[in-house]
Amino acid sequence: MEVGKIVKVSGPLIIAEGMANSKMYDVVQVSEKKLIGEVIELRGDRASIQVYEETSGLGPGENVYTTDAPLSVELAPGLIEGIFDGIQRPLGKLREVAGDHIERGVYVSAIDHEKKWDFVPVVKKGDEVQAGSVLGTVQENVLISHKIMVPYGISGKVKDIKKGKFNIEETIAVIETEKGDKDVCMLQRWPVRKGRPYAEKLAPKTPLVTGQRVIDTLFPIAKGGVAAVPGPFGSGKTVVQHQLAKWADADIIVYVGCGERGNEMTDVLNEFPALTDPRSGQPLMKRTVLIANTSDMPVAAREASIYTGITIAEYFRDMGYSVAIMADSTSRWAEALREMSGRLEEMPGEEGYPAYLSSRLAEFYERAGIVKVLGGDGRVGSITAIGAVSPPGGDLSEPVSQATLRIVKVFWGLSASLAYKRHFPAVDWLTSYSLYADRLGDWYADNVGEEWVRQRVICQRILQEEAQLDEIVRLVGMDALSPANRLTMETAKSIREDYLHQNAFHDVDTYTSLAKQEYMLRLILEFNRLAGEALDKNVDIEDILELPVKDQIGRAKYIPESEMSKFDDILAEIKKEMLELTNEGGI
Ligand code: ADP
Ligand code: MG
Repeated sequence: MEVGKIVKVSGPLIIAEGMANSKMYDVVQVSEKKLIGEVIELRGDRASIQVYEETSGLGPGENVYTTDAPLSVELAPGLIEGIFDGIQRPLGKLREVAGDHIERGVYVSAIDHEKKWDFVPVVKKGDEVQAGSVLGTVQENVLISHKIMVPYGISGKVKDIKKGKFNIEETIAVIETEKGDKDVCMLQRWPVRKGRPYAEKLAPKTPLVTGQRVIDTLFPIAKGGVAAVPGPFGSGKTVVQHQLAKWADADIIVYVGCGERGNEMTDVLNEFPALTDPRSGQPLMKRTVLIANTSDMPVAAREASIYTGITIAEYFRDMGYSVAIMADSTSRWAEALREMSGRLEEMPGEEGYPAYLSSRLAEFYERAGIVKVLGGDGRVGSITAIGAVSPPGGDLSEPVSQATLRIVKVFWGLSASLAYKRHFPAVDWLTSYSLYADRLGDWYADNVGEEWVRQRVICQRILQEEAQLDEIVRLVGMDALSPANRLTMETAKSIREDYLHQNAFHDVDTYTSLAKQEYMLRLILEFNRLAGEALDKNVDIEDILELPVKDQIGRAKYIPESEMSKFDDILAEIKKEMLELTNEGGI
């Protein structure tokens, strides 16, 4: 073990000399307290080290020990339900060992190394395996079957395979390779800054269904896609992320919280474990890994946290799962990057962010995607990444928003004025977009119906027409509008209030299946179509708008998924009332 000496301490950054034998991104232990740090710059024998723990009290002359290993995470059964800090130290365990105020240099392993898991093999002696091949499974909890895979770099013939109870360090298989026999245990380590390899990247073609109407209908995200949720304080970023964690049809959730305010992470730590997985009725944590940066943690740990998160996501992807990773908020991550860059005295770019801000963000989002995984059995896994962005004052021209927008393919822009009017989710339908929408068209046509694809286009067109008509109304008043334009305005209002508005906290409204979304939208558009025909027959627009069935359309969002036949009743009612009106008033 090499020993360097501290020459300077600047907050979370220390400079040490005598480090010629260390490498970039090596983990080091700082001082006799053994604080964990990472080499982030090397010049000759001088290393800049970001330290993941409080550095107060450290001073020049103290030792720095190299470990010759990059910052890595532990991957094994026991990950699920884990609550970790940015460098995968288990928060619960840390508290147990160190008390509420976490002492520096306290080391506890990320995952329990003693606990025995029931390993069930799926290969037998003599089978040929390669990196990524599944050797067996561990039922980690009622929801998750944890696949134990051959580690990267190993391939050959199964010489021995165990069955029964083992901890994650015990040998469960021996593989005969060209370089001799290799013992394989359930624990793998992986350097967080390096993406885990896969066989082939595929084109995203399937939506991640979220049950959130504005998302699924107007701005869908693909499994393996990348999205940003920018919005000012209080616009609903965290609620959107929580709704997706709860309802999106992903197998595994990795939630990276970088607290905005001091107590916000405490909220996440309290709230997340209390969430119920609506599909299984089990705690949501049973398919979740939570990474939390509380405000009393040094910024450097925040910088590392998104890499820790995405590496864990990749590991579950490699098993063939669909994983969704949420980062709330990437702006806080970028600020950590800025602070470290400032201390390194690098040339500052826009607003003090380092010039490599966009490439770092891109590196993170690029690790999302849908892939054919290693192992040769055709398993497909995906990571869908959704990052919240909190631009100061909601101004999207700032560097983090701009850099994010160049990368992501879905943009759910939250609007302060919608949030102020309590229109939630406050996704602005005029500025948001999804570049996956067209590509997902075939899936929607096959799974929801051709009609759905058409409805979606009409819905978008009506909302855009409303924006244009709004301008006219502002200039010359409502009276200047033709009856047909009035109808467009009313239909747009119905789309906004009866359809896009969705209360996350209402038992029924919180989630809407695609089948119900199709029905709900059909009610609104069918009303619009028949009303248009009635107008052509000279029926008064006011009479149309007073039809009692309008109330039923407004309340359709509260119809439970189990009572879908009610939609047919309302459709019939629309036809009936409209026909009566045409027969009475028309000519
Ligand atoms: P942000 O993370 O952008 O600061 P939050 O997600 O904390 O904002 O949302 C602020 C508040 O807005 C929430 O506490 C809630 O009252 C309200 N809100 C946001 N989204 C919804 C929603 N879909 N349904 C109902 N209320 C919502
Ligand atoms: Mg928030």
